Amino acid sequence: MNTLTHLECSLCRQKFEAGKIHNLCDCGGPLLVRYDLAKSRETWSREKVAAGPHSMWRYAPVLPPTRPESIVSLGEGMTPLVRTPRLGQRLGAGDLWVKDEGLNPTGSFKARGLSCAVSMAVELGIRKVAIPSAGNAASAMAAYAAAAGIEAHIFMPRDVPQSNYIECKAFGAQVTLVDGLISDCAKKVAAGKDTEGWFDVSTLKEPYRIEGKKTMGYEVAEQLGWELPDAIFYPTGGGVGIIGMWKAFEEMQAMGWIGSKRPKMIAVQVAGCQPVVRAYEQGAERSQFWENAQTVAAGLRVPKPLGDFLILEAVRQSGGTALAVTDEELLEAGVRLAASEGLFICPEGAACVSALEKLLASGFLKRGERIVIYNTGAGLKYLEAYAPLFPR
Ligand SMILES: *Cc1c(COP(=O)(O)O)cnc(C)c1O
Ligand SMILES: [Zn+2]
Repeated sequence: MNTLTHLECSLCRQKFEAGKIHNLCDCGGPLLVRYDLAKSRETWSREKVAAGPHSMWRYAPVLPPTRPESIVSLGEGMTPLVRTPRLGQRLGAGDLWVKDEGLNPTGSFKARGLSCAVSMAVELGIRKVAIPSAGNAASAMAAYAAAAGIEAHIFMPRDVPQSNYIECKAFGAQVTLVDGLISDCAKKVAAGKDTEGWFDVSTLKEPYRIEGKKTMGYEVAEQLGWELPDAIFYPTGGGVGIIGMWKAFEEMQAMGWIGSKRPKMIAVQVAGCQPVVRAYEQGAERSQFWENAQTVAAGLRVPKPLGDFLILEAVRQSGGTALAVTDEELLEAGVRLAASEGLFICPEGAACVSALEKLLASGFLKRGERIVIYNTGAGLKYLEAYAPLFPR
C-alpha cells in the first residue's frame, strides 16, 4: 500500500522502526515518517492520484497505515480551493484563493491529522487515546475514536469554545476541563498516561498527525495543476500544518512531481500569543514560552510549540515571514471576507486575511502573485468570538 521504511528524529536523525508504538525521540525531538520515495516514483503517479478516493486517502501511498482495514475515515480532505476575486480586488491581490478546511468533518483541518493518528492507533492495537487540546483537535479525536470504537480522553482549557466541548461530549469522550492553557492540559495527559494506559496523541508527540496534515500540501498542488502557489498564509499554533506541507513539498519533489520552487511560507500568529513571530524577528532557532497567552483564536493559543525549529526553518528557507495581528483586526477581517465572498471562516483563518492586508500594504507581496490562505476551520464553531460584533 505504501513505501514506509522507518521513522526519523527531526533533531538528532536517529532512526526508529516502523510498526512499533512511538512518541518523541529520547532527545526530545519529534519523529518524522520516511518512505522509499524512489520506489513510489516508479509505482505511483499524479495520474493515479486522480483515480483515487475523493478524500485525503487518495494519497495513501505516502500515508503511514500499511493495511487498508486500518483506515478510519469520515471523508476528510479534498476541501475546496475557492477563488476570492472580490476580496482580492479590494486588497490588490489579483490571484487570491482560500483553501477552505472548514468543510472537513468536525469543521476543521484537525480531522486530517486525527484520521491518520487514529488509523495508526487501530493498526498498532492501541485502545485508549488521550489528548490535550485547545479545542478542534479534541473534537476531531473524539469523532475518529468514536468511529474506531476506542476510548478517547480529552483535556481542554475550561474556556474552550462551546462547540468543541459539546462535540466531544456528544462523541462520547471522557472530557476534563482544565483551569489553564493547553500546556497545563498536556501536563495532565503526561501525568495520567502511565497509570491509565493512554496513548498520548499530543501535537508532534504523536508521529502520524503530521502525515495527515501534510495532505494539505499535496492537495493544493493537485488542485492548482501541480504548480505550487507563490505564497501560503498559515495560522500557526503548533505549526503542524506548515511542517507537514513543507514535508509534502519535499516528498513531491523527490517523486518528480514538482520542481524546487517553494511558496513563501507565511506563519501568522496573534498579538496575544506570538512565540514564533518573536523568535523569527530575533533570528532565534527556538521560541520561548509566551506568558499569559490570550486570544479568541483558540487554535493559536499555543505558548511554546514543540516543533518551533521546524516551523522557523520552513519560513526562513522559503523566503517567507512571520507576523502577528490583533484579535480586533482578525475578527474585522473575517467579517470583511464573509461579506465579500460568502465564506464564514474561523478566527485563525481570519488572522491570515488581516496578515495578507498588511503584507500587500507593505509591498512584501505583489498584485500578480498567486496567494493561498488556509482557512483552518468553520466560523460556525466560534459563535462566541463573533457575537460581540453583532449585538442583537
Ligand atoms: C489547531 C488549529 C490551528 C493551528 O494549527 P497548527 O497546525 O497546529 O499550527 C489553526 N486553526 C485552527 C482552527 C485550529 O484548530
Ligand atoms: Zn532525537
